[in-house]
Amino acid sequence: MPHEFCPSIPDLETISIPTARISTSPLRATSRVEAFLRDADYDGPRLVVDLDVVRQRYSAYVHAMPGTRIYYAVKANPAPEVLQILADLGSCFDTASIPEIEAVLALGVAPDRISFGNTIKKEVDISRAHAMGVRLFAFDSDAELEKIVRSAPGAQVFCRVRCDGTGADWPLSRKFGCSTRTAVELLLEAHRKGLDVQGVSFHVGSQQRRAEAWDVALATVADVYRTLCERGLKMPVINMGGGFPAAQYREEVPPIDDYAASIDHALRRHFDWTLPEAIIEPGRGLVADAGVIEAEVVLIARKDQSGPRWVYLDIGRFGGLAETEDEAIRYVIRTPKDGDDLAPAILAGPTCDSIDVLYEKEPYWLPVSLEIGDRVRIEAAGAYTASYSSVGFNGFAPLQSYFV
Ligand SMILES: *Cc1c(COP(=O)(O)O)cnc(C)c1O
Repeated sequence: MPHEFCPSIPDLETISIPTARISTSPLRATSRVEAFLRDADYDGPRLVVDLDVVRQRYSAYVHAMPGTRIYYAVKANPAPEVLQILADLGSCFDTASIPEIEAVLALGVAPDRISFGNTIKKEVDISRAHAMGVRLFAFDSDAELEKIVRSAPGAQVFCRVRCDGTGADWPLSRKFGCSTRTAVELLLEAHRKGLDVQGVSFHVGSQQRRAEAWDVALATVADVYRTLCERGLKMPVINMGGGFPAAQYREEVPPIDDYAASIDHALRRHFDWTLPEAIIEPGRGLVADAGVIEAEVVLIARKDQSGPRWVYLDIGRFGGLAETEDEAIRYVIRTPKDGDDLAPAILAGPTCDSIDVLYEKEPYWLPVSLEIGDRVRIEAAGAYTASYSSVGFNGFAPLQSYFV
C-alpha cells in the first residue's frame, strides 16, 4: 500500500541530544516583575507575567528538542499577550474549544498551526473548526471518530492512548485516552474512512516529575506504530503531549535537558526501525515560571488556644489557585517576614466555602511574625491560575493579569 501522506521522516541525526545545557535555573520574581509590583498600587490579587521568561522558556525547549514541533497548550494561559509572544516565535497551538481557536486565529496565526486536541468535542464545533481551516484533530473513541469522519472529512487525526499518570502531580489519566489495542482498531478505521492518520498522541500527566515517563509511554506506543506498519499504514508523526514541569514549585524537578535526553533516547530505542516526526504540547512548562501572584493576608486566627493557626489570603481555590485541589500543586510562597522563625499554618482562601482551603493536610510553614495586611508572593503562578479563576464567586473579582 502506498504511503501517500507520509512526509519525509526526519533523519535520526536531526533529533540529537543537546550538548549545551539550557539553564532553567530559578528566576524568581524578575526585576521587571519587581518593578511593576513596586509601582502599581495594590488593588486585590494580581498575576504578573514576565513575557521575557516565556520567550526564554520557548527557546530553551526549541534548543533542547530540535526538530520537534511545539504546540503550546492554550489552556495553561490563554492571554493574548502570551499567545502573541509564542506566535511570533513560531509556535503552533493546541486548543480545546472554538473560543481558543478564535483567540489564536485573531493573532493572524494560520489555521494549519492549530490542533483541536480535545477528545471531547461537539460535532458542530468540529464542523466550525474545519470550516475555519483547522485540519488536525484528536479522538480516543469510535463515537468521536465518527463525528470527525462526518464533519471534518479528510482531516488529519491523532488517536490518544491512555497513560497512568505515574509521577505526575496533576494526572490526566482516566478521563482521556484508550488502550493501545483499541487505538490500533480506531486508527485503521480512521484510515478506512478517509481520514489522514498522523499517529498516536498521549499525555504523561501534568507536572510530570519523572523524566523517564515518556520512555515508558513510548515503549508501548511504538508497538502501535509497528502493528499498523505491518498492516500497511505507516504513521508519520508522534504526539508526546505536555507534562513538562514548572521548575519553581516546592518540589525540585530535573532540568528540561534531562527530559529532552530521555525522550531522544527513548525515540531512538523504541523506533529504531523508523523515526516519526515528533510533536510536543507543553503548557505549564512554558508559562508557569513566568508568573508571580501578589496577594494579601486578610486574617490570621487561632480558633482555640491550642488549635492550629489559620492564615486566610485574599486569593483561594476560586480566585485562581484551583490546582491546590487535593494539595496537588504546591506553590512556593514568599512573605516580607521570610528569615524569621517558622511555624505551621493552615492556608485558606477568602470565600464562604469550606473547600476553599489551600494547604491543610500538609500544613504550610510560615513566619510566626506574619501579620494581617502583609503581602505575599505566590511564585511560578503563570499556568492554570488566571484561566481557572471564577468569574466572581462570592463577589470576589477574577484574578487580574498584567504583563511586563
Ligand atoms: C492540558 C494539555 C496539555 C498541556 O499539559 P501541560 O502539563 O500543561 O504541559 C497538552 N496536551 C493536551 C491534549 C492537554 O489537554
